[in-house]
Amino acid sequence: MNLEKIMNDLEKKHPGEVEYLQAVREVLESLEEVVNENPQFEAAGIIDRLVEPDRILAFKVPWIDDSGKVQVNLGYRVQFNNAIGPYKGGLRFHPSVNLSILKFLGFEQIFKNSLTTLPMGGGKGGSNFDPKGKSNNEVMRFCQSFMLELWRIIGPETDVPAGDIGVGGREIGFLFGMYKKLTMTHVGVLTGKGTNWGGSLVRPEATGFGAVYFAKEMLATKGESFKGKTVCISGFGNVAWGAAIKVTELGGKVVTISGPDGYIYDPDGISAEKIEYLLELRASNQDIVKPYSYEFPNAQFHQGKRPWEVKCDVALPCATQNELGKEDAANLVKNGCICVAEGANMPSTPEAVEVFLENKILFGPGKAVNAGGVATSGLEMSQNSLKYNWSAQEVDEKLHSIMVNIHAACVKHGKQTDGYVNYVKGANIAGFLKVANAMLDQGIL
Ligand code: NDP
Repeated sequence: MNLEKIMNDLEKKHPGEVEYLQAVREVLESLEEVVNENPQFEAAGIIDRLVEPDRILAFKVPWIDDSGKVQVNLGYRVQFNNAIGPYKGGLRFHPSVNLSILKFLGFEQIFKNSLTTLPMGGGKGGSNFDPKGKSNNEVMRFCQSFMLELWRIIGPETDVPAGDIGVGGREIGFLFGMYKKLTMTHVGVLTGKGTNWGGSLVRPEATGFGAVYFAKEMLATKGESFKGKTVCISGFGNVAWGAAIKVTELGGKVVTISGPDGYIYDPDGISAEKIEYLLELRASNQDIVKPYSYEFPNAQFHQGKRPWEVKCDVALPCATQNELGKEDAANLVKNGCICVAEGANMPSTPEAVEVFLENKILFGPGKAVNAGGVATSGLEMSQNSLKYNWSAQEVDEKLHSIMVNIHAACVKHGKQTDGYVNYVKGANIAGFLKVANAMLDQGIL
C-alpha cells in the first residue's frame, strides 16, 4: 500500500476536506502492515473503495422561524459503507457542520461499528442548523423539513440514523414523527427514541458509561482502577455527563467540565448531586458553566481555557474534535496523567496523539472508547426487531461486555513487542479486518 500516493490522490479529489483527510490518514497509517501482508485486499481495491462513501445525499432544508421569516439550512447524509450491516451513525446539528466533518465521522463510524461486533455499517449526517436558542416549534419545523428529504434513503434495514451533537431526544422525536407520517410505518428507523415508543433504556448515558468501562479495562492492564483517581472531563453534553456519573460511581473524582468558552475546575469533585444540578440546568436549556461556579463557590471558571492544564490521573475528552492539542498533551503527561480515553470523536489532534504514544501512556482512541453509544443503538435496533424491551440492567450488562470485548480486540491487534498496547492501531486493525473480509466476500461493488 502506497500511503502517500493514496493521500495525494484523495487531496486532489477532495481539496480542503481537512477533517476527512486527517481521519483517513490516521486510519491508513495503522493499516499499512496488515494490508501489505494481505495482497488480496490490494487486488480487490479494498482501500480505494473503503475511503470513498457509497453515496452522499445533500439537500436544502427550508423552514419558517417564529418571526415568520424563511430560513434555509443545508442537510446531508453520508452513507459510507454497508458491508456488515445497514448504514448506522448519528445526525449532527451544529453551525460548523460541513461535508468534510460528516465524511470524517462517517469514515470513523465504519470501524467503530465493526468493533462493536454488531451488524452495523457506517454513515453520518446532519445540518449546519443550530438548535441552540431556537424555540421547540422552530426545532420541530426544522426537523420536519429535514426529514422530508432524508426519509427517501433511510429505513430500519437500510440506514438507521441516531443523535450526535445538537441532536438529542427532542430532535429524534420530531424526526421520527415526520418519518412515521410520511411512510405510515412505526419502525426502528432511528435510535435514541423515547423509551415509551421504541427507545432503549440506558441509551442516553451509554456512550459515557461505555467510555468509562473501556478506560477501566485500560487501567486494569496496569493494575490500576478509578478508585481515588482525579479525572478531568471536557464538555458537559450527552457523553460527558454519562462519563462523569460512572467515574463517580467507580470511586474517581471528576474535577472539570467545560464548554466552548472555558472550563470549570472544582477541587471538591463534581459529585453525583452536583451532576444532578447540572443536568437540571441543561434540561432547562440554560448555560451550565457559569451558574455552576456561582452555586459552588470553591469551583473556579477559567475563561477561554481548556481543562488539560489541570493535574489529573485520567483525562476524558468528551466535547468535540481537535479540542486537545500538542501542548495540552504535553501538559497532561508532565502532570502525571496515566490514561487518556477519548469520549468524543477525534478530540486529540494527530500531534497530541503522537505525544501520548511516544510517552507510552494509556491512550484509547474515540472509535473504540465511545463505541458504547452506537453499540447500545445496535441493542435498541435488536429490541425493535424483537418487539421486546430489555431491562436497564440487561442493557447495561450487554454494554459492559461489549466494551470489555472491544478492549480485548484492541489489545490483540495493538500489543507491541515491548508489551505496550497501541490502542489506535489495535482499534483500526480490528475494525478494518471484519469490514475488508466482508467486502472481499461480496465482490467489487
Ligand atoms: P453534546 O452536544 O451533547 O455535548 C457537547 C458538549 O461539548 C457540550 O457541553 C458543549 O458545550 C461542549 N463543547 C462544544 N464545543 C466545545 C469546545 N470547542 N470546547 C469545549 N466544549 C465544547 O454532544 P455529545 O455529548 O453527544 O457529543 C460529544 C462528542 O462525542 C462528539 O464528538 C460526538 O461526535 C461524540 N459522540 C457522541 C455520541 C453520543 O452518543 N452522543 C456517541 C459517540 C461519539 P455547549 O453545550 O455549551 O455548546
